[in-house]
Amino acid sequence: MPITDPELLKIVEERVLNKMVCRRCGALNPPGATKCRRCGSKDLRPKRKRIGR
Ligand SMILES: [Zn+2]
Repeated sequence: MPITDPELLKIVEERVLNKMVCRRCGALNPPGATKCRRCGSKDLRPKRKRIGR
């Protein structure tokens, strides 16, 4: 399902990428998380990558 609307693409991009990834176990956490919900580690990094172009 390709997204053609640029406005929608922007929103989807934020939704998908605005997450925190645990450096220890690799679990995805909600954007506001300070602690991993799986292993409890505080070593989180923001997930930021570009989709497509
Ligand atoms: Zn973790």
